[in-house]
Amino acid sequence: MPINLTINGKPVQAREGQTVLEVCWENHISLPTLCHHPDLTPVGACRLCVVEVEKMRGLIASCTLPATEGMVVRTETPKVVEERKFILEMLLTDHPNDCMTCESNGDCELQNAVYQYQVPWPEHKGARHNYPAGADPNPFVFTDFNKCILCTRCVRACAEIQGRNVWGVAFRGFNDRIVAGADVTMLEAGCESCGACAAYCPTGALTDKPSRGQARSYQMKKVTTTCVYCGVGCQFDLNVRSGRVVKVTSNPKAPVNGMALCVKGRYGYEFIHHPDRLTKPLVKKDGAFVETTWEEALSLIGKKFAQVKKENGADAFATLASAKATNEENYLIQKFTRVVMGTNNVDHCARL
Ligand code: SF4
Ligand code: SF4
Ligand code: SF4
Repeated sequence: MPINLTINGKPVQAREGQTVLEVCWENHISLPTLCHHPDLTPVGACRLCVVEVEKMRGLIASCTLPATEGMVVRTETPKVVEERKFILEMLLTDHPNDCMTCESNGDCELQNAVYQYQVPWPEHKGARHNYPAGADPNPFVFTDFNKCILCTRCVRACAEIQGRNVWGVAFRGFNDRIVAGADVTMLEAGCESCGACAAYCPTGALTDKPSRGQARSYQMKKVTTTCVYCGVGCQFDLNVRSGRVVKVTSNPKAPVNGMALCVKGRYGYEFIHHPDRLTKPLVKKDGAFVETTWEEALSLIGKKFAQVKKENGADAFATLASAKATNEENYLIQKFTRVVMGTNNVDHCARL
């Protein structure tokens, strides 16, 4: 049974179990969030998504509020806007005014919310945190907790997506901060360097170390592709600047893996432009490999295959396919082996 409610005077329908935030987003009613992400358990920590609901006291965080029959919700009243501005101002009192050199500039959810609500940098003479940036020696994730807003997305991403439980919140009050394990390094706390925490972090507190300083988000073109490392078939976006891959980012629409990637898929892209990489085929001439054209290489392979078949029979030939190839390529390998070479000698490394 659909649930009928009214949002900003417009009648909308919700499904059983949906939150008010989900109903808003589904109906293209924009609501700002910082701690919320559709992949993660909602916690109502940042309170930026507050709304007014008739017959309910105070402002309510919509990310944890179930939609119920007859509910009347308002998402942008003066009271709501004032509350959001206050929350953002409080966050800025302990945030470096650092956007110009910040890795996340142009791709920062805090910056977007501050811009949307036009919150000025507050005059503030109180204490500020001064954590050493880049203190964690993890080779792939750069930490700068001066930019942390304690949204706990990293905590939930590591626990719920990667199952590693590396991050937690330690201490109390002003001393609250994100720590790895019992305040050790990420690797000591069991980190697998998958980069999920950086991918879900809404600010510049956790970023990808190998791509720091390489390009602004608007200078990169995203090209969706399939990972070449194994047969799972994860997809992600190559971020390309001037013909060079400078970063890999999760593609939330990836059918197999969503935002999740392993360390190889997310950070193992340097081979693409490595000077040692073979970009032209080699053939052996007089005992030494020499560069040749694809036409010559393929024609030589064709001749050799035909020669083996003619001299020794089709069953002298076999193919071993690879999990690093796509399903389509593996299909073609078996088709070629059976139809062209005339043998069923086909195997695949994943069977070993
Ligand atoms: S985290 Fe966002 S708001 Fe903070 S300095 Fe970086 S870009 Fe600016
Ligand atoms: S890189 Fe992956 S495993 Fe390591 S802390 Fe982040 S989410 Fe957890
Ligand atoms: S490090 Fe990033 S994701 Fe983690 S709590 Fe801080 S702002 Fe949120």
